[in-house]
Amino acid sequence: MNSTRPPWANRGEGRFFTRIEVTTMLNGAMLALPLHVVTGTRDGPTLGVITNVHGDEFLPTTVIRQLIGELDPARMRGRLAVVSVANPLATANFGRQTPEQHGRTDLHEVFPGNANGNTTQRIAATITSRLLEHVDAFVDFHSGGSGGRLQARVDYNSKAPAPVKRKSLEFSRAFGAPFVHENDLTGTASHYLNGKGIATANPEVGGAYLGPDDTAHYFRQCLTGLRNLMAALGMLPGYRIVRPKKQLLFNQKGRRELRPAHSGYLVSHYQRPQDLGKLIRKGTRLGETVDIYSYRVLEEIRAPFDGYLFFSRYSGVVGAGTQAFALAEAATSEWLR
Ligand SMILES: [Zn+2]
Repeated sequence: MNSTRPPWANRGEGRFFTRIEVTTMLNGAMLALPLHVVTGTRDGPTLGVITNVHGDEFLPTTVIRQLIGELDPARMRGRLAVVSVANPLATANFGRQTPEQHGRTDLHEVFPGNANGNTTQRIAATITSRLLEHVDAFVDFHSGGSGGRLQARVDYNSKAPAPVKRKSLEFSRAFGAPFVHENDLTGTASHYLNGKGIATANPEVGGAYLGPDDTAHYFRQCLTGLRNLMAALGMLPGYRIVRPKKQLLFNQKGRRELRPAHSGYLVSHYQRPQDLGKLIRKGTRLGETVDIYSYRVLEEIRAPFDGYLFFSRYSGVVGAGTQAFALAEAATSEWLR
């Protein structure tokens, strides 16, 4: 446990909500970040969570609402502290990054931030000083933004020092997603905390505007995942972790993103959550891109090797270079049991 306690940590058991001020915006209003805190009756670790680091990734914050509503402080150990919309300016813009004039506008790349920097850096610095410095474990929760993406994995940081990397792998597995991915998280809040010896998990689950059945599927997966992580930290006495029998571990070298070379309408042949995890044989056609002007098929997208599908999207328009599908190479992936 951290010895320095932020003002919100002095509050007793129960629920608490406040807004943390960052700076004045050009429209005259104060830019502030929402902070939800649920404190259990009994002592325990502080789990920090941030969602909507990318403004158009809405699913996790709706899950947080459900989780906070159902937690019973009388049966909980420790404390859950959540910045539920980490970049309100990006969110207000329905976009991924902060709409501001200067560079460094992706909040996911600027941690621990700079209190004298641009708005994005000031947001990061505020989250660092008011949340990150006071947690014992941490979750940076991502999801697909606009564009109908299907995914169900948890990333942990390949650049973390070895002992905290091992801890982060175990913590990430506890979420219970079918895929665990070792990824370079340099510049993120998790990378900053890993440098201080704190284990972190970066779920990347579901997406926005997926339709009611798929949204409900991923909502349940996210909610179970968060309960699992709290249970893994000993915060939910009596709760049993729900996890698949096996999980696929892959790293950046074994990952291949399939990106159309042309913009157009992507016809996807893998549009269901159950499609993720399927072994796709080399040469299998995953989809094709159609020119919306001439109606010609511009390209076919085929699997470059035998691999497990871990990212897919609905049919719809895509820009050239957009990730359409992603595979974890079968030869270099590992089943964890
Ligand atoms: Zn994201």
